[in-house]
Amino acid sequence: MTDSIEKKCLANGVKLTDQRRTIARVISESKKTYGEADHPDVDELYKRVSNIDPKISIATVYRTVKLFEEAGILTKHDFKTGKARYELNDDHNHLIDIKTGEIIEFVDEEINLIQKKIAEKHGYNLVDHRLELYGVKKK
Ligand SMILES: [Zn+2]
Repeated sequence: MTDSIEKKCLANGVKLTDQRRTIARVISESKKTYGEADHPDVDELYKRVSNIDPKISIATVYRTVKLFEEAGILTKHDFKTGKARYELNDDHNHLIDIKTGEIIEFVDEEINLIQKKIAEKHGYNLVDHRLELYGVKKK
């Protein structure tokens, strides 16, 4: 996974310094370490990065995350929490529990197909999509 961030950086002309590489590694390992509901914000990423290299400042984490986002490596989510959260680009959708903030990821072929059809109906090729569902857990 880190490998894929590195490859994308190379392809996009993003230079990877040691600090950026550490940040890339922390982002790559997010779901493997914390589970698929993990969508860390910058403060959380900074905490994790600091454990590996305390010399990295929160400003560097901010800048690097922005750089990765602009290069199309990271996706920024808001989830109505007021905080920007990040994850590697992926093709899944999200269901957010508005009481607990829990985030459930899902992929649904039927929804994907419908989205494609809508774009085509309007004369477009679909290049990206985003779907967020907000719910309250049934008792
Ligand atoms: Zn996600």
